[in-house]
Amino acid sequence: MLIVMQSHATEDQVRAVCERIESLGFRAHPIPGAGRTAIGITGNSGSIDTGSLEAMPGVIECIAVTKAYKLVSRDMKEANTVVRIPTPAGEVTFGDTAVGMVAGPCAVESQEQAFAIAARVCGAGVRLFRGGAYKPRTSPYSFQGLGETGLKILANVRDQFGLGIITEAVDNESLDLVEKYADVIQIGARNMQNFSLLKRAGQARKPILLKRGMSATLDEFLMAGEYIVSEGNYQVILCERGVRTFSDHTRNTLDLSIIPAVQRLSHLPIVVDPSHGTGRRNKVLPLSRAAVAVGADGLLVEVHHDPDRALSDGPQSILPDELDRLVRESREIAAVLGRTLN
Ligand code: PEP
Ligand code: MN
Repeated sequence: MLIVMQSHATEDQVRAVCERIESLGFRAHPIPGAGRTAIGITGNSGSIDTGSLEAMPGVIECIAVTKAYKLVSRDMKEANTVVRIPTPAGEVTFGDTAVGMVAGPCAVESQEQAFAIAARVCGAGVRLFRGGAYKPRTSPYSFQGLGETGLKILANVRDQFGLGIITEAVDNESLDLVEKYADVIQIGARNMQNFSLLKRAGQARKPILLKRGMSATLDEFLMAGEYIVSEGNYQVILCERGVRTFSDHTRNTLDLSIIPAVQRLSHLPIVVDPSHGTGRRNKVLPLSRAAVAVGADGLLVEVHHDPDRALSDGPQSILPDELDRLVRESREIAAVLGRTLN
C-alpha cells in the first residue's frame, strides 16, 4: 500500500500519517520525492482498511501495490535512487547520469599487493577500490581472506590513496567489522538469499552492494533488495555478476538484459561486474563496453598487477594497463549516451 501526500503537505501531516500507520500495527516508510512525499506501508498480510488514512489532512490517495516487492519498486518511488559514496577524493554516485567505477583485486593479499594495485586504480582515475578481506570460496582449502587484518589494510589504502572502499561481509560477525572499516558493504552472490544477513545489512549505516545470486530470477533479486530496504537502508546498489547456464566458454553468463529490466521495475541503481560475469580476462573489456552501452549505472572490475600469482580469481583479473584502456573506452561510450564516468 502506498499513501500519496499532496505536494504542499506539511511535515506534521506526513508524521501524523506515519503515526497512524504504526498505530495500526504496520510499518511506515516515508519516501520523499521531487514533487511530493509518498508513504509506503509494509507489514500487512492482507488488505488495509484505507478509509481512515484517506481522510487524513494532506493525503491525496491510497494506492495498492500489487507486486511482491514494494519499497524497491518504481510504483513506490518514480525517481531513481542515487547512492552517493563519499570518498576522500570526492563523491562517487550511482543512479544519476554518471557511471560509477569500482576496481581492485578479488582479495586483499598483503599491504604490498593492495598498495601496488591501488596506485594503478588511482592512476586510472577510479575512486572506489574493491578487495575482499572475507572470501566465500567453494573449497575450504582455498584462501579465505585475511579477515580484520585485510580490513586494516583497506583502511590504509583509503588513507594513503584517498580511495573509497568496497568489501564483502559473509556473515553477521564480519558485517559488524566491515561496517566499521568500509564505505560500501558488499553482499556476495552466494549470500543473496541469506535472509538474516540481508536484514542485518538493512540495519547498517553504510550503503550496500548486493550481488545477484548465480541462479536468481529478477523477482528473487529484487526481493533480496526489498529485505535490505524494508529494514530502513535505502542505500542499495544492485550488481549483475553473471548466472549459471550451459555455456562453458565463460565462468558465468553475464545477463546484460537484466539491466533495462531492473531499471523499468525498480528505482535502485544497478551495476555490472564483467569479471565474475565472464571469468576470463580477455572478455572483461568487451563486456564492460557493452554494460555501459546497455545503460548500467556502474562497473565493478577485478584488477591485479600480477594475476598469475593472485590468491583468488587471477584468470579473470585484468592488468593495470588494461584498466586504463577500460576506463578510457567506457568514458567514450558513456559520452555517446550523454553520460560521464565517476
Ligand atoms: C567477489 O566480488 O570477489 C565475489 C566473490 O563475487 P560474487 O559474490 O559475485 O561471486
Ligand atoms: Mn572475485
